Parts: sequence; C-alpha cells; structure tokens
Amino acid sequence: MSTHDPGSRPDAPAGGPFGTLVTGTYPEGPADPVGRGARTPLHQSPRCEGTGECALACPTQAIEVTGRGKGATFQLDYGRCVFCRACVDVCPTGALIASADFELSVRRREDLVVRHGAGRAPPTYPVDQRKEAETQARIQRLFGGSLAIREVDAGSCNGCEVEVSALTWPRFDSERLGIHFVASPRHADALLVTGPVNVNMRLALEKTFRATPSPKIVLAVGACGISGGPFRDSAEVRNGVAPTLPVTVFIPGCPPRPEALLYGIWLALGKLEQRVVQGELPTAASGTPKR
Ligand code: SF4
Ligand code: SF4
Repeated sequence: MSTHDPGSRPDAPAGGPFGTLVTGTYPEGPADPVGRGARTPLHQSPRCEGTGECALACPTQAIEVTGRGKGATFQLDYGRCVFCRACVDVCPTGALIASADFELSVRRREDLVVRHGAGRAPPTYPVDQRKEAETQARIQRLFGGSLAIREVDAGSCNGCEVEVSALTWPRFDSERLGIHFVASPRHADALLVTGPVNVNMRLALEKTFRATPSPKIVLAVGACGISGGPFRDSAEVRNGVAPTLPVTVFIPGCPPRPEALLYGIWLALGKLEQRVVQGELPTAASGTPKR
C-alpha cells in the first residue's frame, strides 16, 4: 500500500480519508437530515392577518395576497417558489413557517398551488381517476424495473445539474434503484429537463423529445422547469417545460435536493404516492410511500 494513502495510517478513519462512505437508503428508507435548514414555506391560515408583506418580499411572485386583513385570500405556488424563505422571515404573525419537507413533486401542475381564504376555489381540473390509474400501471409495468434518463439542460443556471449529477454519486447511487443516465435520447425512457426552456433550446428540446422512443416520461425539474422560475416572463424563455412538452411529473426546488429528484422519479414510476394535493402538504415528515 502506498505510504501516501492516508487510509494506510493506523489512525485513519475506517473507509479511507473521507471516513466511512455509506450509500443512503432513500426512497426505501429515510432521507438525510436537512443540512442547510428548513426552507419550504407552509401557510397556516388561522394566524394570517393578510398584511401582504410576504408577497412583497417574494422574489418570484410565488405569493399573491388579495385583499387585506382576516378576509384576505392567500395563494402560494410551489412551482414558482425558489425556497429562499424570505416570506417566512418577514411574516409578522408567524403564519408562514419553514418546513424541511421536500417530497413536493406532483403529476398535475395545479396541485402545486395552495389557496387559503375567502376566495378559495375548487380544483380546476377534471380528475379521471380510472384513466390515471391505468396510465400509472402501464408506466410501472414498462419502466418500474429500470429507467434510462436523458438529462436536457434547457437554459438552467447549472444549480439543478449539480443536484442531478449527485444522484450518481456513491451517497445516492441511483443505479441501485435501476435509474441510469444515458447519453443518447434514443436509449432513453425519460427526459429530465432543467432550465426555463430558453428560445435557443426550444428546438433542441423538441428534437430530443422526438428522438426518444415512445412511450416516454418527461420530468420538469426545478422552479425554472416548472414555471420559468426567476426568469419567468422574460422574452427569452418559454416559462418552463409544459408549454413545449407533455410533462409527466413536476419536481419543485431551486434546485431540488437529490432525494427530491428521487421522489419525483419514483412518483412518475408509480412507486410512491403523491403527497401534495392542491398545494396542501401533510404535516408528517418524509415518507408516505407505497413501499
Ligand atoms: S420561500 Fe418561496 S414563496 Fe417564500 S419568498 Fe421565497 S420564493 Fe417566495
Ligand atoms: S430552478 Fe433554480 S437551481 Fe434550477 S436552474 Fe432554475 S435557478 Fe438554477
């Protein structure tokens, strides 16, 4: 053994210079504790005084407060949120709290919007549960054992790419779950798209989609991939993936942590239940899986 190998020293930590490296068990087991603090805003209506300060502080207009006072309507779109927690910090009544919840992926865009208050609206989409169940069963039958993903950067800042590449690191090791990243769309079952889809990437994205054999899955990743994120309504972007491609699952975050990506992928495969419905998060910590 080389004398330069710190692992050869008697006092070296087990497993080499970086200590024992253990691959996580998520999504079959619990996720890692959150390292940089809770950042998912949760709204508790009974405490809300409708001051509107959260909406003013939000850098991406993810929050809308209509009216003022107790009768105000509060709306938060997790598809626009960049999880900066500025709204939590400015809320004078503690109605907005920060949660460590990251299992936010949904199949329908509408489910990322929470609305509280007098103007609360019913769901705006028809839910054909039988058809949805059939589609899920088909996806699980086709891709449940192994999923080949082609990642497409459609104008991202590369923040999402860092988290996506972490999936292949030993800590998350997506290969253990049968999730592989492939170089060619012709070898792919799924496209994982990051970025707001800028005008220069639109055609490339469409061509990549056409080159991917059917049936296929499309994952829209991050605030950018869902809504355009910080770049929304710029003349140079298409405000996310959905205006260009049919999206199977939306994965919020800015960027989504690796476990959030794994959750979204497993949700697309029908291996986990969707936790967020009409923007409402269950209060329990991670994991209400179909395990
Ligand atoms: S955490 Fe989300 S909703 Fe709150 S201010 Fe930041 S972007 Fe806006
Ligand atoms: S969602 Fe956030 S991290 Fe991902 S590409 Fe957009 S700005 Fe960057």
